[in-house]
Amino acid sequence: MTELTPPAVPGVDQPHLLLVEDDPQMSDMLVELLSEAGHTVDHAPDGQAGLHLGLSRDYQVIVLDRGLPAIEGVDLLRRLRSRGVTTPALVLTARAAIADRVEGLDAGAEDYLTKPFDVDELLARLRALLRRHTDRSPVLSLGQHTLDVTTRQVRELGTGGRTVTLSARECALLHVLASRPTRAFTREELLSRAFDEAESPGAVDTYVHYLRRKLGHAAIRTVRGIGYQMGSA
Ligand code: CA
Repeated sequence: MTELTPPAVPGVDQPHLLLVEDDPQMSDMLVELLSEAGHTVDHAPDGQAGLHLGLSRDYQVIVLDRGLPAIEGVDLLRRLRSRGVTTPALVLTARAAIADRVEGLDAGAEDYLTKPFDVDELLARLRALLRRHTDRSPVLSLGQHTLDVTTRQVRELGTGGRTVTLSARECALLHVLASRPTRAFTREELLSRAFDEAESPGAVDTYVHYLRRKLGHAAIRTVRGIGYQMGSA
């Protein structure tokens, strides 16, 4: 395995990194350190800016602080994951409790580092995350189908299987359902994980309807009194 080295031309083919950190001293230090290590760094000073950048640009890796203004770090990561952002993320935290670590990993963090940390360790872990990200495929298995969250394509397994392309919202909704296929979600949960919370829960019904039209009615199960669950896609 070769180590990541900065390319000769600055800004070209460098790993694009999103840093979400509110502490100015810490973020100045990290921007300098990560830039020197060959990353192109976008810095967001709060969770809202981090969410905006994370949803609108393509990053190879995300470094985020746990304690953030506007949207807290773990919540931010959960929102990015629910909208189909699979970019590997490393969470920085001042809290070392096991429960915090578990919560971060549950929200979709690949790695976790407690402040104060050793900068060489941070760089080594980022290299490992980048390598793993290059190796892995963002394809989810849905029984008889697969969902590629990057291309938003649902593919039927077997020869001659058809391929259906989903809209961004259909994909986000299916991604949330497929990530926990044995769990039933309420409309409110689906709304906050897959869509903007400003919308009404009725939007979930609309997109479930669209998904069923594309994938078959059995793809999503209505769970009486609760909401929806992954069906037999
Ligand atoms: Ca902080």
